[in-house]
Amino acid sequence: MSDKTRFGLDETRIPEAWYNIMPDLKTPPAPPRVVTPDGTELGPDQIGEVMAKLFPMECLKQEMSPDRWIDIPGAVIDVYKTYRPSPLLRAKQLERVLGLPAGVKIFFKYEGVSPAGSHKPNTAIPQAYYNKQEGITKISTETGAGQWGSALSIAGALYGIDVEVFMVGVSYDQKPYRRILMETYGGTVHKSPSNLTEAGRHVLAMDPNSTGSLGIAISEAVEVAMKNDDTHYALGSVLNHVCLHQTIIGLEAIEQMALAEEEPDVVIACVGGGSNFAGLAFPYYHRKLEGKSNARLLAVEPKACPTLTAGEYRYDLGDEAGMTPQMLMYTLGHDFVPAGIHAGGLRYHGDSPLVSQLVHEGEAEAIAVDQTACFAAAAQFARAEGILPAPESSHAILAAINEALAAKEAGEDKVILFNLSGHGHFDLAAYAAYNAGELEDFDFAAGATLCGDDL
Ligand SMILES: *Cc1c(COP(=O)(O)O)cnc(C)c1O
Repeated sequence: MSDKTRFGLDETRIPEAWYNIMPDLKTPPAPPRVVTPDGTELGPDQIGEVMAKLFPMECLKQEMSPDRWIDIPGAVIDVYKTYRPSPLLRAKQLERVLGLPAGVKIFFKYEGVSPAGSHKPNTAIPQAYYNKQEGITKISTETGAGQWGSALSIAGALYGIDVEVFMVGVSYDQKPYRRILMETYGGTVHKSPSNLTEAGRHVLAMDPNSTGSLGIAISEAVEVAMKNDDTHYALGSVLNHVCLHQTIIGLEAIEQMALAEEEPDVVIACVGGGSNFAGLAFPYYHRKLEGKSNARLLAVEPKACPTLTAGEYRYDLGDEAGMTPQMLMYTLGHDFVPAGIHAGGLRYHGDSPLVSQLVHEGEAEAIAVDQTACFAAAAQFARAEGILPAPESSHAILAAINEALAAKEAGEDKVILFNLSGHGHFDLAAYAAYNAGELEDFDFAAGATLCGDDL
């Protein structure tokens, strides 16, 4: 047992390969499906042709790779080294404030040290790199809270690629500073739904006041990439290659927990599309298979968008308009538009197929929590540890605190590890609303009983 607070790794110990969970799953992951409007189902080759218009070949290979370890290109490692390894910290002041006994410990991996302030550059950098290798000059994308758009904008700037971002309307209005950051990095930002695409015009025709959703913004960005040969599309979450790139988080965390001389009993992360959860939890899944860990893997989502806890496990589209293939995942329905909670990055109707499969097979647990409780946990964390969390990350903090208090109550020892996926420096309007007591809770379906009601 170590008494230290901060567990660094020097940059020479950055992992050299990402961990691909696919060969280790109980059953092979289900392939994507495309059914055309006249009801014909496309074959894998035809789907591959469409995908090749959107993504670099290297990402498509990773999307279906049977290899457990996939080398990180040296040029990507060089950029990772500007902010990685990210710190692993023990939340000693939070432990003290919560009055935890010595046997209950809280650790967190802090991804807010990246250029964009979240884990998202971990995948934006390799995606921009692979696109550059293929001669692509422009990438279109969507963004919720603005975290992904800013991560891709800086990655585009690093590799000389133009980045065009469709930003979910509610966040565009709530978070002007994220837009300014994207524009300063050289990105172009549109409020979604926009008049620039057929998908956007269609939504606006039905609801001129639409606050937008990730599903709608994805439709717009995909449409732009499909219509322009020099343009690819990039997704900041959900897809297998995105989850793959994020495993750098958990691979580092395993080494850092070894420095702390602890093994976590529970590994926690918030879930929007599932990538930061995958990033921390997948390497622990592998460690469990190796017989070196007994950790529970706990995914935390908002009650306003409770995909894993209240959604159906079935094939569904990744976007509103049907531009994307269908994936087998937990979904609230591709036309579901969640309430305008401040954790904009968690307002996605679906979830990573790989994360969905882990939950479906009982290898990971999921709970849903209210946003006011999350902000209370975030404020408590900020006062104790000095870091202002992103509203998304506050979901993981709340679950970590509740796990700790439950252990204290039960008189059990517990080592808790959670992912602090980003900082909240651009989310001060949300904190202002919380401080003024103006935040509301939204239930997905009034009267529905969801998991985690006691949190
Ligand atoms: C985007 C984002 C999330 C949610 O996305 P996942 O793919 O589920 O990780 C969570 N936290 C932060 C800080 C984000 O920017």
